[in-house]
Amino acid sequence: MSLFVSCRRGIACRMYVIGVLAVLAVGALAGFSIYFANVTGRAAQVLYGHSLAGVVEATDVELLLEKHRRVIEAAPLEVDRGQLRKDRRMAEDIVKRIEGLVSRPGDQLAERIAASLPELVTLGREVLDFSENFAQQKGLETVDLYAKSADRIQDRIRMFRQERVNIADAESNALARAGQSLINWVSSMAIAALMLIGPVSLVLIRSVVMRLRRITVAMGKLARNDTQVTIETANDGDEIGEMARAVEVFKTNAIMLLDQKARLEQLNLWLDIALNNMARGLSMFDAREQLVVCNANYLRMYSLPAEMARPGTRFDDILGRRLGVTAPSADENGSADERFRIREALAKVVVHRQEGRFSQTLNDGRIIEVSMRPLETGGWVALHEDVTEQRQATEHIARLARHDPMTGLANRLKFRERLEEQARSLGAGHSFALHCIDLDKFKEVNDTHGHPAGDVLLKAVARRLEATVRSGDVVARLGGDEFAVVQLGAASQAEAAALAQRLIDAVSEPLQVHGHRIEVGATIGIALAPGDGGNPDDLLKHADMALYRAKAEGRGRFSFFDPAMEGRLRARRVLESDLLLAVSRQQFELHYQPIISLEHGRICGCEALIRWRHPERGMISPADFIPVAEDIGLIQEIGEWAIGEACRAAAHWPTGVAVAVNLSAAQFGSSDLVAIVSAALEASGLEPRRLELEVTESLILDQDPATVETLHRLRRLGVRIALDDFGTGYSSLSYLRSFPFDKIKIDQSFVRDLSQRPDCVAIVGAVAQLARSLAMATVAEGVETEDHLAKVRASGCTEAQGYLFSRPVPGKDIVAVIEGCNRKLLLADAAR
Ligand code: C2E
Ligand code: MG
Ligand code: MG
Repeated sequence: MSLFVSCRRGIACRMYVIGVLAVLAVGALAGFSIYFANVTGRAAQVLYGHSLAGVVEATDVELLLEKHRRVIEAAPLEVDRGQLRKDRRMAEDIVKRIEGLVSRPGDQLAERIAASLPELVTLGREVLDFSENFAQQKGLETVDLYAKSADRIQDRIRMFRQERVNIADAESNALARAGQSLINWVSSMAIAALMLIGPVSLVLIRSVVMRLRRITVAMGKLARNDTQVTIETANDGDEIGEMARAVEVFKTNAIMLLDQKARLEQLNLWLDIALNNMARGLSMFDAREQLVVCNANYLRMYSLPAEMARPGTRFDDILGRRLGVTAPSADENGSADERFRIREALAKVVVHRQEGRFSQTLNDGRIIEVSMRPLETGGWVALHEDVTEQRQATEHIARLARHDPMTGLANRLKFRERLEEQARSLGAGHSFALHCIDLDKFKEVNDTHGHPAGDVLLKAVARRLEATVRSGDVVARLGGDEFAVVQLGAASQAEAAALAQRLIDAVSEPLQVHGHRIEVGATIGIALAPGDGGNPDDLLKHADMALYRAKAEGRGRFSFFDPAMEGRLRARRVLESDLLLAVSRQQFELHYQPIISLEHGRICGCEALIRWRHPERGMISPADFIPVAEDIGLIQEIGEWAIGEACRAAAHWPTGVAVAVNLSAAQFGSSDLVAIVSAALEASGLEPRRLELEVTESLILDQDPATVETLHRLRRLGVRIALDDFGTGYSSLSYLRSFPFDKIKIDQSFVRDLSQRPDCVAIVGAVAQLARSLAMATVAEGVETEDHLAKVRASGCTEAQGYLFSRPVPGKDIVAVIEGCNRKLLLADAAR
């Protein structure tokens, strides 16, 4: 059993165990049978040898004895001698036979009667002797002795026989018992074998069959691609377990295969989708020039019938159809040429194994670009792209790259190319004039009427310029409101001037845009080639300088380049580099000019006006360097210094006197102005209400919310904000609405003419009234005379500033000037 248990894991082992058990059972049965046969044989021998043979021998001996006895006992009575001799012979014969029977060595009967038998034989012979000798009496007497001896022997024989019978009985009983025990053993063994081998075999067969059936079912399911099946016996350690594991592997493989199949199908699907959703046409041909695959777009592109998409279709057949839709195929030769061209491109791909590319123009005008690649296996794959739109777009872009999209004029690039062309031909006695044209008041039109109106205007200007020049002349828009004209053949200033004037006149013609009458002007700078330069760079630079001067002289005019302009440009460069040094060398100082409160008759503030003490050129006015500082980005640094310096100075002035600091629009751009102002206030200890910041209209021109927010934040610091030079810009009332200024400073150009021009009196009065109604103070700048003062006072201005009271003075003098001024004012007030 333990062997069976140890063999539980192997079916073969179990089968062997059952076989061994069966062999053991059969062996045991055979053993018992042999044993029983032995026992039976031995018992038969015993029965026969010790019992039955003894009984037979005893019976034989007894019968011979009885016969002997009858002969002997009858002898005394016999008278016949012959008979007696016969009896003697008979008796001797009997004795011989008895002795023959009991003469076997180890014969037990002989052992028992051996001692008495000679006596009996002797007595018998004596009886016969007596009887023959007629001594009957003696014979009779000896017969008695003989009888007694015979009785004794017979008793022994009977006893012997009885013993043998008893032994036979016992042996037969033992034999019967052995037979019964063999039956018992054999039946027990048979039952045991049946009980042991039968159930085990049944269990084994059942378990094997059941598990095999499960595996068969599982395999059947797997064969039907049902991978959900579980293989239960996979953990068993026997052969079926191994089979189950093999099936498990089969299942894993099946899952993998199914998975791969599904992925392949999905891939095919995607490939199919990808192929048929490709913007390009795709075709693939094998080494025999037979179609492998193509997509729907390929068919569509060349209007090929669906049956041509069948794999195996010959390239030549497809090409024939394709050439049917190819432009040059209209005639036979064209088709042959095109075929030759395509074949040539293909040969490069297939024979030389290089990528190839060609384009075909179809009958309907479409352009198809074909790019081909050789395949490893021979053949090629080709991508077909409809590049019609792309080509058109490229052409359009190329055109755009050289033309201004809005006006259609040449742009800066094309203009430069044309200029270079003209410059190259200068040596051959050619000449031309370059006109750089800047529109006047264009920004105003944009601001007032909006950009769409500005665009209409630019287009109209372009058309007018084109209409004014001669054919062959080049008109270009260089950007914004800048135009340029190359006047071919212009050899003199007079010719160029004539065109320039015509151009100004043409542009200045009023124009109706969106129902509004719009007027712009033009300012022109002219450079003559080759006199003013032989290359585009010089000519453009010189025409630009001329334009700069024309603008400076007042717009709506033209100006020719003059070499002195270059000197001015150089001077500007020197100024710029000096200015950079001035910042690091602290060459700036602030002068202060008092501002008088007309209401209180005393100085209420001083304006800080920057000065540059140049080491060679002496004092330079802010009007000369502030715009340059703004242009080269130095104004932030300079402005920050001015704010700090002004606050520091004002902190030492009488408390009723404020300080006004001018701010450039550029200071609102990058640096954190609010932080700079509050730092200056904090560092100086000046009360915020004593600081006034002057800004110009240009700052709020753009209505930038960030700028307005900065102004509000400054205001929240307690600082006052003044609108400087009011009247010089657009003086739009909307500026006054965009931020609640504390003060308006009326530009000195109005004050200057107060004595001569009543309109100025009216304007100053109107501004003062307007400011009053908006609760703003008004400062009249540039008050130089008593008359000015009287007029500004009469106009309702609240404050005045000008040489009449004091010129700007260095910081160290201002306190004395304030006191002196105040004294004078007091006296004047008293005199009035
Ligand atoms: P502004 O702010 O309008 O300053 C007034 C200008 O008028 C000053 O010229 C001043 O000297 C001048 N002025 C004052 N009273 C009279 C007068 O009665 N008659 C005449 N003809 N002129 C008078 P300045 O000092 O040359 O300054 C010119 C401009 O430079 C200033 O005009 C201001 O816009 C700018 N500026 C001055 N200092 C600074 C500064 O620190 N920062 C900035 N960003 N600009 C400054
Ligand atoms: Mg000012
Ligand atoms: Mg001013």
